[in-house]
Amino acid sequence: KPKLVGITGGIGSGKSTVAKIFEILGIPVYYADDRAKSLMNHDSGLKKQIIQEFGEESYTSEGDLNRKYLASTVFSDPEKVKKINSLVHPAVGRDFEIWASSQSTPYVLKEAALIFETGGEKKVDAVINVSSPLKIRVNRVLMRDPHRSLEQINQIIDQQIPDEDKNERADFVIKNTENKMLIPQVLEIHQKLQS
Ligand code: ATP
Repeated sequence: KPKLVGITGGIGSGKSTVAKIFEILGIPVYYADDRAKSLMNHDSGLKKQIIQEFGEESYTSEGDLNRKYLASTVFSDPEKVKKINSLVHPAVGRDFEIWASSQSTPYVLKEAALIFETGGEKKVDAVINVSSPLKIRVNRVLMRDPHRSLEQINQIIDQQIPDEDKNERADFVIKNTENKMLIPQVLEIHQKLQS
């Protein structure tokens, strides 16, 4: 069974970019946010729970998640956000374990923005934090997502554990600043995780 390794980092830190380098080395990566969205659309057990909690309007007549409805009713209410997370997180956790056990590499990665925030570090053998200065992160996200305002980005940052705390709690830190090269850092960790 492969070792389970989480890869996290605040918004705009570059965790997806780093995860893609691991993929080039042949390491399978589970993208938790994408999988969560997919499970909300296709996992019948999870869909049933969401409908039970938030009503039939949660899905369109075609059976797709009704994002507009959820955005207006759920995502504006912190208690309801907690509730939907408490349904989605265990479903993602189960899905990840099944996915991981079908892989045959020495280790696999789970890429997620929130690992320490959700206690997910207890479910993996090691965590990598991708760390970048706040100002660079904000600029990257403004460039990548022109539809997002500075205010929206800061709101997301406020919901995440500060980078310095995550560096202390992580087993490995990858520094993704302008003058740091990613590939040598990835190779060093890759070697350690294979032994
Ligand atoms: P999110 O949490 O929002 O998904 P993320 O941590 O996955 O963000 P990425 O999407 O990997 O971050 O990176 C954010 C943006 O910054 C992307 O457009 C990416 O191409 C760019 N970027 C990341 N690292 C670097 C780098 N070292 N040099 C140049 N551009 C970079």
